[in-house]
Amino acid sequence: MFEHDALGVAQQVSTGSLPPPPIVQRIVDEAHARYTGLGEGTVADYIPELAEADPAAFGLSVVGADGALHEAGETGIAFSIQSISKAFVFALVCDEIGHAAVHERVGVNNTGLPFNSLIAMELNDGSPMNPMVNAGAIATTALIPAASSDERWERVRQGLSRFAARELTVDEVVYRSETATNHRNRAIGKLLQSYGRLDPDPLETVDVYTRQCALSVTAHDLAVMGATLADGGVNPITGEQVVSSEVCRDTLTVLASCGMYERSGEWLFEIGLPAKSGVSGGVVAISPGKGGIGAYSPLLDAAGNSVRGQRVCAHLSRSLGLNLFASARGGASGSEESHE
Ligand code: GLU
Repeated sequence: MFEHDALGVAQQVSTGSLPPPPIVQRIVDEAHARYTGLGEGTVADYIPELAEADPAAFGLSVVGADGALHEAGETGIAFSIQSISKAFVFALVCDEIGHAAVHERVGVNNTGLPFNSLIAMELNDGSPMNPMVNAGAIATTALIPAASSDERWERVRQGLSRFAARELTVDEVVYRSETATNHRNRAIGKLLQSYGRLDPDPLETVDVYTRQCALSVTAHDLAVMGATLADGGVNPITGEQVVSSEVCRDTLTVLASCGMYERSGEWLFEIGLPAKSGVSGGVVAISPGKGGIGAYSPLLDAAGNSVRGQRVCAHLSRSLGLNLFASARGGASGSEESHE
């Protein structure tokens, strides 16, 4: 493990800023219009209630680190956050117990296998591997310090609400639908227990995890939550320091390698931003120092990533100059120049 905080030098950051608001709004409108007619993909149905989603629903929201809001389409439609919750629970746990403890208990390497794999754990001595697959997410939820599962759940709900700048509540229909069918996640909980990787009761922990996945959000909420991770942990709407800037850095690092299921490498190659998606069709992408993107469209590709969500993020990444790996000769900023 690298002792990157023990180097004895102060952490400097270098990020840049979004183009002026009218330019961002124009590009958000363009991105939304360009992919509205795209009907590729299928709505998830392994959680029965998710199959009821409207395939045409499509919202796109960008919230700057300064709180500036740019939206197009149906940004107020509520959907269950699903796997996107994993990113924010991971941040809360890192903030509570520290980077090193989470690294040791959960891990930060991609499995290359589907999000609900049991084999990944078996092949790696019971390691949950990373906090963005179900095993790692259940192990991470278990690390929220609490005396009972009820208290743990309330801390998760309140923590995610602080990222969203509003009180989040559970979609009870989705929660009941997943609870009736989540046999595999319960098996993952038991397997974690058998490897000594879970201290609280495994089924109660899976229940907290299922509730966190059923929290109801909008594309707008995801953009605010992403903007908080982009803003050194300060929510740009409330001004509250939700987690530390070091925790944001750690969370975005894990999202870059593990956030988009087994397509995380391809996503980073094409789009160059840390991001997390969920099977209900949400995507959050984060541009450090600049802002958060929230997208919702329930049509998914085979890996479980929203098809329209990926396309609009690619469009915004290029047009707004967000790709973390892009540079220009002499340090020129292509994004602002090309939009003036
Ligand atoms: N609650 C879902 C599950 O555990 C989340 C899946 C996802 O969004 O990847 O199966």
